[in-house]
Amino acid sequence: MLKNKTALVTGSTSGIGLGIAKALARQGANIVLNGFGDAEGPQAEIAALGVQVAYHGADMSKPSEIEAMMTFAAERFGRVDILVNNAGIQHVAKVEDFPVERWDAIIAINLSSAFHTTRLALPAMKAANWGRIINVASVHGLVGSAEKSAYVAAKHGVVGLTKVTALENATTGVTCNAICPGWVLTPLVQKQVDAKAAALGLSNEEATKLLLGEKEPSMQFTTPDELGELAVFLCSPAGANVRGVAWNMDGGWAAQ
Ligand code: NAD
Repeated sequence: MLKNKTALVTGSTSGIGLGIAKALARQGANIVLNGFGDAEGPQAEIAALGVQVAYHGADMSKPSEIEAMMTFAAERFGRVDILVNNAGIQHVAKVEDFPVERWDAIIAINLSSAFHTTRLALPAMKAANWGRIINVASVHGLVGSAEKSAYVAAKHGVVGLTKVTALENATTGVTCNAICPGWVLTPLVQKQVDAKAAALGLSNEEATKLLLGEKEPSMQFTTPDELGELAVFLCSPAGANVRGVAWNMDGGWAAQ
């Protein structure tokens, strides 16, 4: 379905971003990966799906590096047809204790980077009259949780950016939507499980149950594969008039 399209997924060396990149590759899209850590393993996983894959290590907190990545993708594949803004970090502390440097980093990586990639991807998408922008927000783009001020502010901002981008392009073939996962067991969440286990003297299993039980009625993690299939739907012809939604996949979290 996505043969001859190119998808750029930020923060795709692990977790949700890699899951979405693999789902789009299974539909035939060529992939530009981004993120820190091991890039060779993820590149090999994507290449094994029979598509072309490239990697750019831009730091999403740095607009000049984001610009270099977008230029790299356009030069390598012609243009970016599908942009998935996924890179994100977390920090947990009360507002009055929140390190200023962590606030700035979360806003830059989780929110401003999506503005930069979007503004740089839109001209070519509009010229082609086809494009899909998928912002990986969070259930925290819809509701708050204590001790996550920067993250919740950034994710609400991403949902706002999604709506405005969708509206500005509503009469074109370019759509923009947000995906709002609840808990997904990735390194980002395992750190929060570990912190709970250490603070309360619990086993990994007990801390996981507590984490899910506090928020997620299904008591189940959403998986990167499930989120990848939602991204595939948004890229499909049936998704052509889905515009500006914030679609939660959260085991009932936001229904409470
Ligand atoms: P993860 O830690 O597994 O992956 C994050 C990715 O972002 C990695 O590839 C990492 O290298 C990359 N990254 C981090 N800082 C970067 C930077 N400055 N520049 C470039 N890349 C950078 O985390 P994840 O759980 O897969 O999170 C992916 C997205 O999903 C994030 O935006 C997160 O907020 C969102 N999300 C996660 C959950 C969850 O439960 N895991 C829930 C809702 C939303």
